[in-house]
Formats: sequence, structure tokens, C-alpha cells
Amino acid sequence: MATQRIIDFLATRRPEGPCLVVDLDIVRENYEHFEKALPASRIFYAVKANPAPQILSLLASMGSNFDTASVAEIEMALNAGATPDRISYGNTIKKERDIARAYEYGIRLYAVDCVAEVEKVARAAPGSRVFCRILADGEGAEWPLSRKFGCVPEMAVDVLRAAHQLGLDAYGVSFHVGSQQTDLTAWDRALADTKGVFDLLAKEGINLRMVNMGGGFPTRYLKDIPTAQAYGEAIFDALSRHFGNRLPETIIEPGRGMVGNAGVIKTEVVLVSRKADNDNRWVYLDIGKFGGLAETMDEAIRYQIVTPRDGDTLEPCVLAGPTCDSADVMYEKAPYPLPVSLTIGDEVLIEGTGAYTTTYSAVAFNGFEPLRSYVI
Ligand SMILES: *Cc1c(COP(=O)(O)O)cnc(C)c1O
Repeated sequence: MATQRIIDFLATRRPEGPCLVVDLDIVRENYEHFEKALPASRIFYAVKANPAPQILSLLASMGSNFDTASVAEIEMALNAGATPDRISYGNTIKKERDIARAYEYGIRLYAVDCVAEVEKVARAAPGSRVFCRILADGEGAEWPLSRKFGCVPEMAVDVLRAAHQLGLDAYGVSFHVGSQQTDLTAWDRALADTKGVFDLLAKEGINLRMVNMGGGFPTRYLKDIPTAQAYGEAIFDALSRHFGNRLPETIIEPGRGMVGNAGVIKTEVVLVSRKADNDNRWVYLDIGKFGGLAETMDEAIRYQIVTPRDGDTLEPCVLAGPTCDSADVMYEKAPYPLPVSLTIGDEVLIEGTGAYTTTYSAVAFNGFEPLRSYVI
């Protein structure tokens, strides 16, 4: 959302070129909503969503923990003031020497999803806590993360047993229901699978203690979304249904839901043209798929676009970026309605862009500089 602070910043600073502006007040509010919605869960902010130092410092000062995917992200979280016990190495695909670096930094919490990864952790980070990621179907998510990470629940039993046998602390199970998940029942299905893993291992005397319920909490793009409170209630109900009154420790890892609505991209119309009379208009912005809007891939994420001519008649158009790559088209299969009067030089705001934009932006592809960001 373009808050008054963001609008004032753009009006007074008039930054040249496309840029992201993030309002820290909104990040603070989001963190408080998550805390209130799931008071018994520890929050691990997914650093990859937006690793701006000011965001990490704010969250560290509020007591957040951090889910990291690389040694560089671990260093960012440490620099922001988080102690190692508040950082997880949540990527299931790690080099053994990176695990060793993380261990030197004091990180003792690792994600795994196969025995080979358990063996690496056992060698490079002996005695650490590990949780095994299980596959989730990703249904109901606009940006599914299924397939690449996790194993089936039956295999998670083998993975965690191997961890136990190799002297690691078989701590729990994790899943990710898919990003921008708007189906509140998605957590219920994953928690049913999780309980199955807990039960099978308990029979062998291995008592898991933690469920990492991942991210997936949505941010508002074009459609309304349920509140954090509604998510909290649905998740708490599902936990109670499957675990009864012996609730495990829980973790959530919001990324998009923590920062998405805190950021707005300012961009400018470079060209409006047609390929033939009676054909769709093409609107070219000075930002595209390679400049930070990578999540428009397959037109998955549809952002809210605000123009200075809103209120005029709308006409669908193809929306494209400025680079010389024909893949640099954001919306074409489902054209985007924009005012007919929109013209070259108009400044346009793309809302809800606080997550997964700056970090996806290419470095100097076609000579365009990476997306600049201002955190206010
Ligand atoms: C990306 C990621 C997240 C954040 O997901 P969102 O849908 O942005 O909340 C959380 N956990 C893990 C392990 C991730 O890879």
C-alpha cells in the first residue's frame, strides 16, 4: 500500500528511475499481527523475501528470529543483531562447507529432507537440531513451492531416524504450504501428515518436539485476503485437532506476509504503442521481469497498479518491461486494464511489492541497474 509516508517520500525526494520504497511502520504492524495471531509460535522471518538491513534490524529489535537460506543471509541476520540461537539454516540444499561456516557462527538449527543432507549436517554441525521438511501439495497457493523441497512423510521417518542415529537432535518436521496461500485449510492437511511422522517415530522412542509451519501467509494484491487473525485461528484449530492437548513447539516463517504490503515500486511509462490498428495497446514500463517483477512469471502474481489517471475509462493492455528480451512481458494472457489516457512519462505505482522484488532483480542486464530500494 502506498502509505502517506511513501507518497510524501516520493514527492519530496523525487528519486530518478524505478525504485522500491518500504515503510517500516507497516513491517512493524505486520510483525505485531503475527505475534497476536499465533502467540505460542516463534516467528522466523524468511530473510529472502526482503533482506534490507533496516528491515532485519527492526525485526531483530522486536524479538524476531530469522529463517536463512545461505551463509550470506546468516551474516545479514547476525549483523542486524540476531544471536545465533535465533537463526535457522532453513535451506534443504546446502554445501557441507557452508554448513561448517554456519556451525562456526553458532547456528544449531538446520533443515533437511533426505539422508544425504543429514549426513552432511552430522559431519559439519555435530549435535545440532534438525527438522525434516515434508512435501506439501501447494494447492491454493499462487506461488507454489511444492516438488523441489521436502520428502513424503514416510521418508521423513527414515530421515529423522538417521539423524538420531548420527547423534543429531531429531527436533521436528517442517512444511511450506506454498506462497500466497489463500486456502486456510492448507495447514490442516500438512499438520495431519506431520502428526503421522511424530507418531511413527514415537513408537521407536524418538520424540519429536517441534513443528515448523513455514510461510505462505499472503499479502494483499488485487483480491482481499483473510486476516492474520483468521490464519491464526485456522492453524490453531488444526494443531489442536491433530495434536490434542499435547501441542508441540511451533515456528512460523512469514516472508511475503511480513513485508509484501509494506513496499511500493515507483515506475514510469516509457512507451505506449500498438502492433496493428485495432490490436491491444502495449504499455512499456521502466521496470519488468528482470528489474524486480520476476514473480509475474506465468502471470502468477498480479499486482495492483495505481496511475495518475485512475478514474478514466479503462482498456485492457499488454504490460511489458524495458529490456530487449521478449520474455520481459508481465501480463499478456490476462491483459491488464489501464486508463486509455495513460501516456508516456506518467509515473505509476505498483503496490504490494515489498517482498520478492529487489532480490530478484538482475544486475545490469541490458545495462539497467538493479532495483534501488529506500527503507523509510
Ligand atoms: C521462502 C520461504 C518462506 C517464506 O515464504 P512466504 O510464502 O513468503 O511466507 C518460509 N520458509 C521457507 C523455508 C522458505 O523457503
